[in-house]
Amino acid sequence: MHAHARQIFLENMAQTSPNPLALHVVRAEGNYLFDVHGNRYLDLIAGISVCNIGHQHPNVVEAVKAQAEKFMHVMVYGETIQTPQSTYAKRLIEQLPSTLNCCYFVNSGAEAIDGAMKLAKRVTGKTDFLALTDAYHGSTQGPLSLMSNEYYSQAFRPLLPSVHFVKQNDLEALSFIPWNQVSAVVVELIQAERGAQKTEEAFLKALRSLCDQHCTLLVFDEIQTGFGRTGHLFAFEKYGVIPDVLVLGKALGGGMPMGAFIADRKLMNQLSDQPILGHITTFGGHPIVAAAGNAAFDVLLTNQLVETVKSKEALFRSLLQHPKIKAVHGEGLLLAVELESFETVQQTIQQMLAKGLFSDWFLFAPNCLRIAPPLTISLEEIQWACDQILDVLSEL
Ligand code: PMP
Repeated sequence: MHAHARQIFLENMAQTSPNPLALHVVRAEGNYLFDVHGNRYLDLIAGISVCNIGHQHPNVVEAVKAQAEKFMHVMVYGETIQTPQSTYAKRLIEQLPSTLNCCYFVNSGAEAIDGAMKLAKRVTGKTDFLALTDAYHGSTQGPLSLMSNEYYSQAFRPLLPSVHFVKQNDLEALSFIPWNQVSAVVVELIQAERGAQKTEEAFLKALRSLCDQHCTLLVFDEIQTGFGRTGHLFAFEKYGVIPDVLVLGKALGGGMPMGAFIADRKLMNQLSDQPILGHITTFGGHPIVAAAGNAAFDVLLTNQLVETVKSKEALFRSLLQHPKIKAVHGEGLLLAVELESFETVQQTIQQMLAKGLFSDWFLFAPNCLRIAPPLTISLEEIQWACDQILDVLSEL
């Protein structure tokens, strides 16, 4: 049965790498995945920072079922009143600073970044973008243009022209940017795929002030850092720097596909005029997806999960001590365990799998092991996971 399923997977589906992990998942619940052989795996990556409240939360499942029984897709985004969408938008906005008061839902993180890029061009009348080296903002051609890493982008050129790059936290480099041409700066507060590298407050403050001076939009990509992952509901709260556009994805949909860009209504209104329908999507904010996201957001807030993150981070940090661990980067439950090499990380992932732990690496930090579990992981589970990881490292 498994061999057959594996063959169907390999023969019929486009692959993203020559050696897919190909774990045959048949069920997920709470902090665990279950494979076709009945093995259980503690999930240490939460579907890449998606399943922040764990898998299959009964409230989310119930919300999906209830909405499916009422209506699914009825009309393209923005024309009809669909309560799941508007309720979710209102609840998100209630948690945000007053200038982030208008929400545009799309289907993925990449699409949300693309929407934010279009908004910046439309609002500022400028053409260029500023991005950080080794940032990841998505795989479609807009966000791909913001990727400095030639290995990933060279095969797809020409991409968008006029994207400038600076290194994270390189304050000096900011003086060499032609700000009068830059419509938006797109920044991750923690550069996740670079191995959870933190952006410094001074750098963000400098960006905020340069954007104010030059009528450039400051865009925060919180697709991976949002919804409590760093120990704050949104990572920007810690820095006291408010973006012009906040981009969300991943955990936003509570396990369903959803992205959003959120800005001030005065900016966002311009997308509906000159041209009218300046940005449109058929499925953005799909009612079932919005219902799921809304229910997940409710669980996150009601169960005060964000408040548990810092002590969980501290426990991981105190336990992850081993001669083969060079450093632990990141913040909250977005951690990168730096090992010797890509090969060491790959061996560790395989050995962890054999012990019932599901983990991964990072796109631009292949020597780092990803620790980004559901925020619902318990202290006992963290203890057990770290024991296993240390055993694996000792056995390598
Ligand atoms: N931005 C960041 C920071 C991400 O981590 C990702 C996905 N890994 C994206 C954007 C793109 O999101 P999606 O895969 O939903 O298009």
